[in-house]
Amino acid sequence: MDINLKINNTAARTGDMPAEEFKKYGYKLIDWIAEYLTGVQSMPVLSNVKPGDIKNMLPQHPPERSESMENILQDINRVIMPGITHWNHPGFMAYFNSTSSGPGILAELLSAGLNVNGMLWKTSPSSTELEQVTLDWFRQMLKLDKDFWGIIYDTASVSTMHAIAAARENISGSDIRMKGLVGGSEVNRLRLYASEQVHSSIEKGAITLGIGLEGVRKIPVDNEFKMIPSKLEEAIEEDKKNGWLPFCVVATVGTTSTTSIDPVDEIAGICLREKLWLHVDAAHGGIAALVPEMRHILNGVEKADSLVVNPHKWMFTPVDLSIFFTKKPQVLKQAFSLIPEYLKTSVDSEVENYMDYGVQLGRRFRSLKLWFIIRYFGTDGIIERVREHLRIGKLFASWIDEHPMFERLAPVPLSTTCFRAHPAGMDDEETLNTLNERLMDYVNSTGKVFITHTKLSGKFVIRLVVSGLRTEERHVRLAWEIIQQCLAELLRK
Ligand SMILES: *Cc1c(COP(=O)(O)O)cnc(C)c1O
Repeated sequence: MDINLKINNTAARTGDMPAEEFKKYGYKLIDWIAEYLTGVQSMPVLSNVKPGDIKNMLPQHPPERSESMENILQDINRVIMPGITHWNHPGFMAYFNSTSSGPGILAELLSAGLNVNGMLWKTSPSSTELEQVTLDWFRQMLKLDKDFWGIIYDTASVSTMHAIAAARENISGSDIRMKGLVGGSEVNRLRLYASEQVHSSIEKGAITLGIGLEGVRKIPVDNEFKMIPSKLEEAIEEDKKNGWLPFCVVATVGTTSTTSIDPVDEIAGICLREKLWLHVDAAHGGIAALVPEMRHILNGVEKADSLVVNPHKWMFTPVDLSIFFTKKPQVLKQAFSLIPEYLKTSVDSEVENYMDYGVQLGRRFRSLKLWFIIRYFGTDGIIERVREHLRIGKLFASWIDEHPMFERLAPVPLSTTCFRAHPAGMDDEETLNTLNERLMDYVNSTGKVFITHTKLSGKFVIRLVVSGLRTEERHVRLAWEIIQQCLAELLRK
C-alpha cells in the first residue's frame, strides 16, 4: 500500500489557512498581544460601552463568503476592544483578579495548536502524564502530603461540584449513584455545612447534585468572618436529631468578601469525629500559601478530603485552570466512572484515564500552562510576586487605618482590604451606604482603577484587591490618591 501521499499544502485544499498565511498573521497577532500588554495600563480599565453596543457593531447574519484575515484582525480594535474590561490592567483591583502572563499565553496557543483531547491516556499520553507531573509539582509547592491526588478542571465551581459529588458517593450504605436521590433512595435528606461567607458555587453544586438549597446549612461566623466551629457542632447535632444526614463540610481559606480564613484544623477535627467529607475552598487564598511564611493558612488541610486552588486567579494563568486535590480519588472515580466499550483500551489497568474522574469526557491540554508558568517564573519567582502583593495589600490597609475619613471593616489576612469612607459626624448607615456606592462608581469612572464592593452586616463595603501580575506599589498609591480625591469632591458637592 502506498501511504506516501503528498501531504504538502493540504491546508489550502481543505480550505484551512496555508502555512505561510498562518505564520504571517500569527506573528502579527503575537505582535499585537505584546503591544497590548505593554500599553494596557494607559487604557481605561473598565469598559464603558452600554448594553447592546457591541452587538450593534456586529453583522446579524454569518458571512457567506470567505473573509480575509486582514479584515478579521481589523475588527479586534474596532469591535472587540471597546467592550473589553482589562483584567490585565495594573489598576484592576476588583473581585479576585485573574491576569495572564507571557508563558501562559504561549502555552494556551500551543494547546490550541496541538488540539489534543486528554480524555484517555491513549488519546495523548503527554497530556495525562504532564498533568500528573505538574500537579505533583504544585502539590510539593504547597507542601501537601504525598497522598493528595490531583486533577485539573476548568473552574473552582466545577472542582467544588466534584468534591460534593465525591462526598455524596462517600456516604456509607447509600447507593445514590444507582438510585438517585428521588424515589428509590432510602437515605435521609442530606445536609452540607459551610459558613455564611461561603462562595455561591457551593450552593450551585448542591443545586446541581440534587442536594438542594435547603441541604446547605450556613454556619455563623465570628467578628473576623470565620466559621465558628462550636456552631458547626451544634448544627450537626441538631440536624441529626431532626432526621437530616450530615455528609460534607466546606471550609474556606480566603472567603470572597473579606478573604477570612476558616479554622480548618478545628473544623477537620469535627469532620473526622462525625465522618464527614471536608472540602477546603482555597480558590483564591491557596496561592498565598505558596509563600512559606503564609503556609499556615492551610494548617489542618492534611486532614481534609479535598482542596481546590485556582492558578487562574493569582498565579498568572489565563482562564481557565483550577486544581482539585483529593485524598480519595477512588471515591471520585467510583462516583463518575462509566466506561463504554468504545472507550476501553488495552492499557487501562496501567494508566490513569482522567475521564473517569468527572462529568466531562473531553479535556483540554491545560497542564501546558502550568508547565510553562512554573518553569518560566520558577517557584521563587512566583513566591516573590505573591509576597509583594501581600506587602502592598497590607500597606494599603495601613493607609486606610491612618486616615480619619476612612475605616476598615475586616481584617486583612491576605491582600484584600474591605473599607469605606466614614466622615466624622456622618453616622446614618443609609447615608454612608449611598456615599460609598457613589464613591466607588466615581473612582471607577476615572478609568484608572476598578474596584468592587460587598455587603458586610448590611454595610456597603468597598474591596480593593492586590493580586494582578502587573500591579505594583505605585499603582496602588495612585488608586489611593484617586479614592481620596473622589471622596473630597463628592463631599464638596
Ligand atoms: C473565585 C472563587 C470561586 C469560584 O471560582 P471559579 O473558578 O470562577 O468557579 C469559588 N470559591 C472562592 C473562595 C473563590 O474565590
